[in-house]
Amino acid sequence: MATLGNPQNTIEILQKYHFNFQKKFGQNFLIDPHVLERIMEAAGVTKEDFVLEIGPGIGTMTQYLCENAREVAAVEIDSNLIPILQDTLKDYDNVTVIHQDILKVDINALAAEKNNSQPIKVVANLPYYITTPIIMGLFESHVPIDSITIMVQKEVADRMQQGPGSKEYGALSLAVQYYAKPEIVANVPPNCFMPRPSVGSAVIRLTRHRQPPVTVQDEKLMFRLIRASFNQRRKTLANGLNNAPDIPLSKEQIQESILELGVPVNIRGEALSLEQFARLSDIVGAKL
Ligand code: SAM
Repeated sequence: MATLGNPQNTIEILQKYHFNFQKKFGQNFLIDPHVLERIMEAAGVTKEDFVLEIGPGIGTMTQYLCENAREVAAVEIDSNLIPILQDTLKDYDNVTVIHQDILKVDINALAAEKNNSQPIKVVANLPYYITTPIIMGLFESHVPIDSITIMVQKEVADRMQQGPGSKEYGALSLAVQYYAKPEIVANVPPNCFMPRPSVGSAVIRLTRHRQPPVTVQDEKLMFRLIRASFNQRRKTLANGLNNAPDIPLSKEQIQESILELGVPVNIRGEALSLEQFARLSDIVGAKL
């Protein structure tokens, strides 16, 4: 039985272990059972699934995951939470707690060991200070992923869903949409957490595409172009690319490439779609 997801039981366990929240680890624990149930429903975890949880905290969501999944691995950085997790998860024999920084875990090796390298589900109430490196790490290292269902800052969730022309559109939108289909499944106010975060939150599900929505010859080059063009937001695409040390083309070659794409030479990067970045990447690639 999941027992932690409410204020009273959370406070009780925190007091029992004299736990102090560490701001640097982005610790905001969920205390609302409706939100936890909504996350479980959106993640669609079944007894067939191996689930990776990032940042289990005191084990609130981990208990729900253990009830629903075949097996769970939960990676937690804070050593003060490890004895608490041993206590709150003692009734479950299908969970492994890994005391590590998620950015240092070899998730491919974990998926191989625990799930025969078959697609895994990632479910997490993420530490907001490293949302982007976590998501990009999962996608770029080609971890076999079925879906990622995560609580993130509301603004970041919006950014993942946006297309060209919107103010929030950027490198993260393009990367997420290249690898997955993003869908916001719930907006979550600060009072669902302890302590309350200063920003609104949202649960977003990223369902991995079987085939990327665009084809590109050199994925890495496309992401170099994307990063370069959003590094200097108010500049033109040509200037952004010209100032990027890892794109070794002359100013003339860059202008030629943009014209070959069939767009004005003074266009800004934020006006290009994913499809256009893929085409530009192929054009640039042919000149390198
Ligand atoms: N899952 C819990 C919940 O929903 O109540 C806690 C979520 S809290 C927003 C984020 C958790 O991630 C904290 O437990 C924090 O200690 C952990 N964390 C922070 N940085 C981490 C890192 N680099 N690797 C692994 N866990 C980390």
